[in-house]
Amino acid sequence: MSCIFCKIISGEFPSKKVYEDESVLAFHDIKPNAPVHVLVIPKMHIESVDALDESNIDVANKALLAIPKVAALLGLKNGYRVISNCGEDGGQTVPHLHFHIIGGKKLPIKLN
Ligand code: AMP
Ligand code: ZN
Repeated sequence: MSCIFCKIISGEFPSKKVYEDESVLAFHDIKPNAPVHVLVIPKMHIESVDALDESNIDVANKALLAIPKVAALLGLKNGYRVISNCGEDGGQTVPHLHFHIIGGKKLPIKLN
């Protein structure tokens, strides 16, 4: 598997872990674009939101449920933004489903 996030899950690639359970991993984005920028990923390789279906939705739900836990661990009491880029036009660069948690300041209202 050449997927960089699968390599992070297996430990082949390092990451700055924030949270882990049996089906979800959260780690700091290598190129943060806000004071807090963490990625929450399912341990199962799912390509993107566009690949969700009945067979993998339970795993994706576990990643979603981890988001408020991770936000609490990060101290994001005043809110945050959750983003999942999907496919080429969505600006997705890593083809493994991930939710960006971005915060730590009042974020500008814009499309990216
Ligand atoms: P996206 O562009 O939505 O697919 O988001 C991919 C994110 O993964 C980008 O914000 C990258 O900075 C981040 N990223 C890529 N490689 C790594 C890595 N090895 N460790 C942590 N974050 C990474
Ligand atoms: Zn993967």
